[in-house]
Amino acid sequence: MSNVRVRFAPSPTGFFHIGSARTALFNWLYARHTKGVFVLRIEDTDQERNREEYLNILKDGMRWLGLDWDEGPDVGGDYGPYFQSQRADIYRQYLQILRDKGRAYDKDGAVFFKVSGKKQVLHDAVYGDVERLEEKDFPIFRSNGTPVFHFVNVVDDICMKITHVIRGQDHLTNTNKHIELFEAFGAPMPQFAHIPLILKSEGQGKMSKRDRGALIEEYQAKNFLPAAVRNYLCLLGWNPKDNEEIMGIDRIIELFDFGGIVKSNARFDERKMAHFNTEHIRLLDTDSFCELAFKVLKDDAALKSADRDYARRVFALCQPKVSNMEFLGDMVDYFFTEEYVFDPESEKKVFKKGQPPARMAEALEFFNSADCPNFDAQSIFDGFERLGALKGVKGTDYFQPIRYAVTGRAAGPELPAILATLGKEKTVSRLARAVAKFA
Ligand code: GLU
Repeated sequence: MSNVRVRFAPSPTGFFHIGSARTALFNWLYARHTKGVFVLRIEDTDQERNREEYLNILKDGMRWLGLDWDEGPDVGGDYGPYFQSQRADIYRQYLQILRDKGRAYDKDGAVFFKVSGKKQVLHDAVYGDVERLEEKDFPIFRSNGTPVFHFVNVVDDICMKITHVIRGQDHLTNTNKHIELFEAFGAPMPQFAHIPLILKSEGQGKMSKRDRGALIEEYQAKNFLPAAVRNYLCLLGWNPKDNEEIMGIDRIIELFDFGGIVKSNARFDERKMAHFNTEHIRLLDTDSFCELAFKVLKDDAALKSADRDYARRVFALCQPKVSNMEFLGDMVDYFFTEEYVFDPESEKKVFKKGQPPARMAEALEFFNSADCPNFDAQSIFDGFERLGALKGVKGTDYFQPIRYAVTGRAAGPELPAILATLGKEKTVSRLARAVAKFA
């Protein structure tokens, strides 16, 4: 283990926003990259706006993203408590230190910090050296006795022996005050690394929690792969050396460093996030994909009564076509029910050319006869070729009509593989029904 100690310090006053998630992720990545410690500290001094519900959403979202913390709520650690609301005694002691040094005084019922009046240089790992002057004294305790953010934030970073402060660029200006406080306490300065903002996908400005795609729980609800969300988020403000994009977490941990963090703000792109999700679905091995598919469709009545091996074969067949787990149920439903729906839009497409009813009738007759005894995908494909030759059309001329007849739609996995998975009996009975329906 290294001596690196980083922290994610959210205030649970709202939902878990991708900006916060990205800050958490960068801290976590840096900790894992350096084999350091990742601390979760809850900055809950704003009693009026903090809610238990938000804290739970936050912890749940972090766990979903795989951002496990080494110290903090639920896991403890040597530097607790990890809730600022439980650290009042510590803050009082630290206030006393400042008073003893003549750096804190009372005014209008509040307590003010006396600034040094000196120019300070902020060394930022991303923004370089920035000269700063904090001109005015500023409050560290309000008149109602509660401590102010700048004070508790710095006191906790000192007490928790934080070595690197990685946070949003919107905190850059606060850092003047923080440097003043570190100096006044005679504490070692952490390395600061401010990370660029995430801009909304269109137009101007920072992505807000009201923008679509902004909340982690949206991705949880839509069954995005956490690996995909994590992969996309890490590229918002960080470029790995050779611009690798789709990466597993081990690779990201290996490559992550401050050198790759860029100064320019990153624009959120919903389509790119969806694309990363699709790519990560492709990357899943069959077992993991099937496990996820069962989880996503756990409430599906038809699937519940289906044979598990059959379901696994269906999932394996559909995996390369799944762009988002959200659509999986719609994609596979016809495998599990004879009551599948004939989609009218697909019908228009399929019936635009050729003679679909004739092809359906021919295929029915063909599969009913002994001409196709092996019902595997290759034999079915060859069967269509032979049938086509016999009828003077192409083997593939059967694909769209038969697909529509047995699935009710115009797209999906390879047709011969669908038929092989359904089996001969279901294929024939579905064809017979379609022939009657479209004759
Ligand atoms: N509670 C602050 C925030 O959520 C923490 C800032 C920091 O990381 O220092 O923005």
